[in-house]
Amino acid sequence: MAHERVPAAQEQPPASDASHQPPNLGRPIAPDVLEAPGPAPPPSGVPVFQPEPTPAAMQEEFARKGFTLDAPSGNYLSPRVLAKTRQEDLVPVEIGGAYVKDLRGGTVFLRESIRARLLAADQALFKKAQKHLVITYGFRSNTLQQELFNQLHGKGKVAQAGESFHEAGMAVDLSNWREAQRFMIEAGFVGGCYGIEEDLVHYSIDEITKASNMDVFTRCTLKEIPEDIVKGVKKVGKVVGKAGKVTIGKIKKK
Ligand SMILES: [Zn+2]
Repeated sequence: MAHERVPAAQEQPPASDASHQPPNLGRPIAPDVLEAPGPAPPPSGVPVFQPEPTPAAMQEEFARKGFTLDAPSGNYLSPRVLAKTRQEDLVPVEIGGAYVKDLRGGTVFLRESIRARLLAADQALFKKAQKHLVITYGFRSNTLQQELFNQLHGKGKVAQAGESFHEAGMAVDLSNWREAQRFMIEAGFVGGCYGIEEDLVHYSIDEITKASNMDVFTRCTLKEIPEDIVKGVKKVGKVVGKAGKVTIGKIKKK
């Protein structure tokens, strides 16, 4: 054991918050390794979100469909999803003293304000039942969404790549949604049996309105329908049924 050597690539960045760039010690830096401007790295040990490059073939397909790149997430998103996407940092979710991993083993990231709501729901659930939320997925890259679509298409509820709120960092899937439901709803999420038909594990923000369909709400026997939802439902116009599938009613314009 002589002395420890720190490889050049792992040199510590300066502690100053103001500095976004690593020191360039006189070496030329290729343009593709230059860091994009952004917040200073958090203290070590905290997972940092790294956008995953979207394969060229997928990029072409997205461009053809009119989907555009959301730089913070590195994902191409449909206009509908992008319009609802909060331009906030993607941050890791820590529950019960550990950073949560998704079913693929990746750290679960969400937009900052979505994480805040999730942690509020987790705290309330823990206070009531001494249990934590069990998360199976948060943010997904375009590539992962495409993989899941290929696997699950026709077997379960899954959006095409670029069209999922998971790709925006605005949605989370829970495996213990039944016991978590009321706490998620109270924290401001829409999901469970208040949410997307046949996707009861899925909770998201700004994806659909709570005041969507009374038939769906009446299936919710786990918790009384909150008063604000009942008020919302009264404002909703006719609900459209389509081939047994529930679609969202539209609020009539005055
Ligand atoms: Zn989901």
